[in-house]
Amino acid sequence: MKIKNIFKHIKIILTHKYYVFIYACKAGIPFRGLIHDMSKFSPTEFFESVKFYQGNKSPIEAAKRKCGYSKAWLHHKGRNKHHWQYWYDTLTKDKTPVIPYKYTVEMICDTLAAGKTYQKKNWDKSYQLKYWEKEQKNVHMHESIQNVLTEVYTQVSEYGLNKTLNKKNLKNIYEKYTKNYKNN
Ligand SMILES: [Zn+2]
Repeated sequence: MKIKNIFKHIKIILTHKYYVFIYACKAGIPFRGLIHDMSKFSPTEFFESVKFYQGNKSPIEAAKRKCGYSKAWLHHKGRNKHHWQYWYDTLTKDKTPVIPYKYTVEMICDTLAAGKTYQKKNWDKSYQLKYWEKEQKNVHMHESIQNVLTEVYTQVSEYGLNKTLNKKNLKNIYEKYTKNYKNN
């Protein structure tokens, strides 16, 4: 483990949290933005990610490639409701429940912020939609939530972050796709 990667990893976490907080404020969920990803500072998550520090992409994927699984990720997804993997349970009737509004919006802020953090100057407003189109093939998420994400990322690619990320717009999109499911 390289000592300088401790500082580089802290910088990545804080940059990511900074963008999440900005987007979460625009989206009307400032508290979620503030406490976002705090478990990354737990020893289980922190030191694995320092060890597999990449700089331009997630250390979790590097750990998975090397070890077959990532303890940091298992720890993270078990505690952070903004990840669909937190909700996915193959042994329940409802394998992919409708994720509540505030965590869905936090997920949106998280993915946009991750793109911005790693892509830096290469980020543009269509980045997330392109990323999502590939990622979507592998997710196990309620289809209503998938539709919410598709619409939000499409709007971001057309109108930009500022016009898309506001409470009224996000509430409307969420309502439109989830209203027919009684679980939420
Ligand atoms: Zn997270």
